[in-house]
This record gives sequence, C-alpha cells and structure tokens, in this order.
Amino acid sequence: MRIPRGLRDYEPELYDKLEKIRENFVKLSKAYNVKLMEPSSLEFLETLEAKGGEEIINEIYAFKDKSGRDLGLRFDLTVGITRYVCERRDIPLPIKLGAFASMWRYDEPQKGRYRWFYQWDLEVYGDKSPESYAEVLSFTYRMLKDSGVKNPVIFISDRRTIEDAVKEVAKEKYSTEFLRAIDKLGKKTQEEIIVEYEEKGYERDLVNKVLKISEAGEDSENIKKHIRPELLKLKDILKSLNVPVDINFRIVRGLDYYTDIVFEAYDKESVDLGAIAGGGGYDSLPALFGRNDLKALGVAGGVDRLLLASNLNQETEPLIYVSYVAELKTEAFKLSEKLRDEGFRSDFARKNKLNDQLTEAEKNGASLVVLVLPKEFAKGNYKIKLMETRQELEIKKEDLVNKIKEILNKGNS
Ligand code: AMP
Repeated sequence: MRIPRGLRDYEPELYDKLEKIRENFVKLSKAYNVKLMEPSSLEFLETLEAKGGEEIINEIYAFKDKSGRDLGLRFDLTVGITRYVCERRDIPLPIKLGAFASMWRYDEPQKGRYRWFYQWDLEVYGDKSPESYAEVLSFTYRMLKDSGVKNPVIFISDRRTIEDAVKEVAKEKYSTEFLRAIDKLGKKTQEEIIVEYEEKGYERDLVNKVLKISEAGEDSENIKKHIRPELLKLKDILKSLNVPVDINFRIVRGLDYYTDIVFEAYDKESVDLGAIAGGGGYDSLPALFGRNDLKALGVAGGVDRLLLASNLNQETEPLIYVSYVAELKTEAFKLSEKLRDEGFRSDFARKNKLNDQLTEAEKNGASLVVLVLPKEFAKGNYKIKLMETRQELEIKKEDLVNKIKEILNKGNS
C-alpha cells in the first residue's frame, strides 16, 4: 500500500519532535500575547486564489465537492487567518494571531519540500511599526533557537526599495518579471536565470544588471537613494536585541502579495535546505478581502525544515513499567493506572514470561520496573528493579509512590 508522492507518515519518533516544536510555539505565543487559532482547512477556491500568483495557483489542491462547489485545501495559514480577521470587524485591533497546522501544496517534492507539511505562523494586524516587525522577528529567532537550530540568521529586505532600484535601471522596460528573476537566485545560478529570461525575450544585459542590484549592499549608490528608514531602524532594533540580522536585497519573496518589508530566516549550517521561515508585510491581501484599512504583516516557518535542521533534545519523563506473573496481570494493570493517577508515565508488560517482560521494559526505555509477584504480593509488598544498576528492593505497597519519587529524584540530582 502506498501513499501519494510528496506525502509521508509522521512516525512516532518524528511525531514526538513535531510535538516538541508545537510545544515551543505555544509557549512562545503565550509569552508574546499571541492568540492561537486554526483557520479552516478547506476554503472556497476563489479565496485561496486571491493571494496567489500563477505559481501558487498551480500548487493548490483544488477540487469540486459533492455539490459541485469549487474548493481547495489551504496552502498556508495567512489566507485563512486574514479572511477571518477581515470578516470579523468587531475584533479590536491591533491583534496578534498565531496557528500551528498542516497544509498542502502541489510542489515538486525534494529534500525539505513536501506536498503535505506543517507551518507555525504568526500574523499581526493593525501595527506596521518597526517595533512590530522586530517583535515578529525576535519571536522567529527564539522559535528557531528553542527548536534546536544552532546558527539561525535573518535576512531583511524591502520590496519597495528593490522595485524602485530596478525601475531606475529598467525604465520603461520594467516588469515585475524582473523581481521574479531575483527571487529565483537562491534556486538557480545567475547564468541559468539569464538564459531563461533571454528565451522569454528579455535583453541579457538588462537581466544581468537587475540581478546585480540584488547583490548591492545598503551603502551602494543605487540602493541608498531608495532605502526606507523603517528598514534601517528594524535592523538597529534587532541588532540591539542580539538577533543575528543582515540586510539582503536578494530577498523579494511571494511576488504577488508582499508590499513592503520582507524577510527570510536560514540555518547557517544548512543553507541548502532553503528558508526555514519567511514573511513580511502584505497590505494587499486584506484589501482584496475588502479591508483597505487593515495593515498586515506576518511570518510562517516550515516545521518540517526545522525537523531537518534542528537537534532537539528529547527529554521525556521516566517510564515506570509493571511486570507480573500471569495470575496477577489485572493487579499489574491496575497498578499502572494508579501510577498514572499519581502523575507518573507508566505501562504494564504485555509478554507472558517475566524474563521477556523485563526485556520488553528495557526495549521501551523504562527507568524502573515494579514487579507484582505472588509471594511478595501476599505479604503486601512489591519488588522494584532499577534498570540501570539492576538493583532490586522489596517495599511495602503503601510506600511505593514515595519510593519511586525518591529514586527518580536521586537519578536527577
Ligand atoms: P511560504 O509560505 O512559502 O513563505 O513558506 C514559509 C515556510 O514554509 C518556508 O520558509 C519553508 O520553511 C516552509 N515551506 C514552504 N514550502 C514547503 C514545502 N513544500 N515543504 C516543506 N516546507 C515548506
């Protein structure tokens, strides 16, 4: 039995890590007063297409439902959350909304690129100040650090500056296609892009000049004329917070909806993975949903890329196993329930023979095993086996919980 290309099962080990990343996200969201929600997984196709350029529209999993309505699976969380905020005029602004959920894109599968994947997402409506951008980027930095990315770096840019600089060079030949060319730089070589554009009828020399603009630093003449003070201020604020940040005009992103500042985050140690988070300001989307008044900015991070880039420490609670001889199985099961009541992580063995049960406990990573044995049980006692030292001790039933706590605390000290 196969599953469709580009999709995968989140098997237990991977799922554990996914949950750890979700936990980090929820914790950070609380610290930043971000309200969490989940927008609908299905939308009317026209809602999804509102944001899209051709590339995005081609990636939508679209279909007709049983009543013939044109629907699509969400390809990001921004569209749904923005639709929700635009509809709900009663929501007091500004507001920060976040979500952690999966989405679908008919993308070309490769390393770090799937057709079903998770994003963490934070959107801010009603405040586009440099401080608001800085907050989103500081959140992003913490999210990556907390999720085990050792060396994150954030590149910030401004579409208006690039557009103005490209317009100055291209004059009446200007087209947004030039920004698309810059956007391709991370994925293709300069020469490949130039050849592609030559084939579309663009002059080699002009494409070359445009691509060069994206390499220019903030001090180059062409850029200096067009740079916005907000971008410089944002950089200063982030530097003062010790967030690793650089201005980089190669970043133009999602060409059809971003309107001002844009940014991407990478892991310096695995740049080949592509961006692990990205976002920017996108006032045009609320405008398309009938809210010209609504200023919007946001960030989305690829959880699956985080799973590839990060070294998550799997700290799990110690596991207490309960072993028994066959006639005491029900007692053993009841004991594992009691241990759960007491707040321990616990399980009872499923193999029949005691020796096999101990091997089972070992394989499951149990820290200690409580043995329910006829002779001891009749006396009102249990045996405890410490898996690391193999030491065994006999204790009274009523002392069990305290004894386990004592042993586990010793292990931690
Ligand atoms: P985007 O919504 O395209 O700005 O993507 C935001 C983040 O989601 C990117 O920085 C990636 O980390 C991640 N991402 C985008 N597309 C995929 C994909 N097909 N598979 C896995 N992660 C993705």
